[in-house]
Amino acid sequence: MATMEPGAIAYFEGGYVPVEEAKVSIMTHAFNYGTGLFEGIRGYYTADEDNILIFRLKEHVDRFVRNFNVMCMEIPEGREEIESICVELVKRSGFREGVYIRPLCYKNELSLGPKLRGVQSSLCCYVIKLGDYVDIASGLDVAVSSWRRLSDNAIPSRVKSTGSYVNSSLAATESKQAGFDEAIFLREDGSVAEGSAMNLFIVMGGKLITTPTTADILVGITRNTVLELAREELGLEVVERPIARTELYVCDEAFFSGTGAQVAPVRSVDRRVIGNGEPGPISRELQDLYFNVVQGKVQKYRHWCTPVY
Ligand code: PMP
Repeated sequence: MATMEPGAIAYFEGGYVPVEEAKVSIMTHAFNYGTGLFEGIRGYYTADEDNILIFRLKEHVDRFVRNFNVMCMEIPEGREEIESICVELVKRSGFREGVYIRPLCYKNELSLGPKLRGVQSSLCCYVIKLGDYVDIASGLDVAVSSWRRLSDNAIPSRVKSTGSYVNSSLAATESKQAGFDEAIFLREDGSVAEGSAMNLFIVMGGKLITTPTTADILVGITRNTVLELAREELGLEVVERPIARTELYVCDEAFFSGTGAQVAPVRSVDRRVIGNGEPGPISRELQDLYFNVVQGKVQKYRHWCTPVY
């Protein structure tokens, strides 16, 4: 997995500092109560242009800032400044490879008591180098988790809060301990939600199906990208509807989408082989298209790529 890069620069308490100097107290509210909110954004290195292209930066910052309202967060940095900080950090760190940018807004007060209103927030951001995070070539063996996805009225999955990742960690750990690559969460009503840190798609009868934005999922930016590419470029019928557990066993293809996971085909669920046990044709086509788009090779979607240098 990803490691911290010595020499990298962080944005912390209003300025740029070496990442080792960006430290918080053990009494910090967010450290005690999970009251942080974050984003995960990829930058792709293109050798042709000798540049890093940050993928859908605007959309990530938009999701980040919208969720401030749920978490009662107010910070001096606005959308455009947050975007500039992300670009600036990669530049100052001097990376010339794939990167992952992590803006984080957190309750930085040293105060006791789980509450959101009236607790001060602060923005920080760091960047690490990151290549492929899961096996995107041969397909993943996944299992339905015994852990249920958090529900919107408990800890909203729509909000990428630090505290909510205990749920993801439980499911991911269980699946890995049982010898699987990844987990699929069901909701409290038993229908399918998503993976531990990725959205889920299935293909059945030529249609691309994914769970709706009200199904206790993080509304993924990669999900949105895949939906648009499937509709616009592959001319596929795309359906957002609840998915039942057993549809995972009878579908033609399945894959995950996410900034980290990218487009990651699934080859089995609960040891039931999907299709012929290899990434299916639609999964492969979408994966190829996705990689061309993120590397800035498709002019039509070039506006999704922000060059760093
Ligand atoms: N669901 C969860 C729980 C996630 O953590 C992620 C990763 N951010 C996703 C879905 C995918 O979202 P995105 O495509 O915006 O990275």
